[in-house]
Amino acid sequence: MTLTPEQEAEIAEARSQTRPTLRAVSEGMERRLYLAHPVLDHGLVRVIDYMGDDAAITQAARVSYGRGTKAVSNDEGLIRYLMRHWHSTPFEMCEVKFHVKLPVFVARQWIRHRTANVNEYSARYSILDREFYIPAPEHLAAQSTVNNQGRGELLEGEEAARVLDILREDAMRAYDHYEGMLSQEGQKGLARELARMNLPANVYTQWYWKVDLHNLFHFLRLRADAHAQYEIRAYAEVMCQIVKDWVPLAYGAFEDYRLGGATLSGKAIEVLKRRLAGEVVTQETSGMSKGEWREFEGVWG
Ligand SMILES: Cc1cc2nc3c(=O)[nH]c(=O)nc-3n(C[C@H](O)[C@H](O)[C@H](O)COP(=O)(O)OP(=O)(O)OC[C@H]3O[C@@H](n4cnc5c(N)ncnc54)[C@H](O)[C@@H]3O)c2cc1C
Repeated sequence: MTLTPEQEAEIAEARSQTRPTLRAVSEGMERRLYLAHPVLDHGLVRVIDYMGDDAAITQAARVSYGRGTKAVSNDEGLIRYLMRHWHSTPFEMCEVKFHVKLPVFVARQWIRHRTANVNEYSARYSILDREFYIPAPEHLAAQSTVNNQGRGELLEGEEAARVLDILREDAMRAYDHYEGMLSQEGQKGLARELARMNLPANVYTQWYWKVDLHNLFHFLRLRADAHAQYEIRAYAEVMCQIVKDWVPLAYGAFEDYRLGGATLSGKAIEVLKRRLAGEVVTQETSGMSKGEWREFEGVWG
């Protein structure tokens, strides 16, 4: 990620202006505010604004008149209770607005999360930058042989070099054509809304993305997970660190119950009970499908 000197100056300017406020402030988030966190080769995530902190969650849960904060241990216990019992609305009281720069193919996965508010950079109005995602060699992998929706062994040697050359050359050629079609030198110049058609899906776009904490946790649960594609996971992992600084108690509960926890089906509970009673249970006698059993064994061994 490279920011232009003008962009860096804008961020520095935004961070230099402080003012007193009566509103809830999260010290951890204040340290992050406006700063660009690099992701992938040209991407970034930054927090533009936020509302609420850990206390805002317990305040809403208790419907308090004041800030609602009791002892931190009480707040933590309540937040963990709310998370454990899927009592989600208090988490919706916190909001965050991100500025994200991301490849279009990542944006297509991201935009499926409908519970956020989005405003994207207009490639009808503006000209896109010559910036394309090219995977680092350690992420350039072959099709997985066990998971149709994933990658397996790394590409190596000549094959890896050839693939990287193709990706770079195609991106540059497409961008040259894009510029050529837009140009008004000696021609009318194609409209921006049409010229963008030939750009590949690894071109970078940008948006502002505003979401409440409950739905952000849902997004992070799905996209920071090992099953998510590496490129969107890279964003989710950076956002996890930001959220951890913003609402440490809520993030701790999320990490424990959602990221680190597992859901048990009725059949799985039965199998565990039978195992605890000393019975040897196999997939055939468990009542679970092969896929369910594989996932169950993955968690419980
Ligand atoms: C590993 C992985 C693989 C995936 N593979 C595919 C794929 O192959 N093809 C594909 O098309 N998608 C795929 N997806 C996308 C996935 O199916 C979801 O569309 C995406 O994760 C957004 O989830 P969501 O709808 O729960 O989120 P959000 O849109 O943020 O919604 C959050 C929750 O709000 C509720 N909600 C929101 N809108 C509505 C609505 N209109 N009606 C009812 N309830 C609503 C639902 O409870 C929903 O869970 C994949 C996602 C992941 C993480």
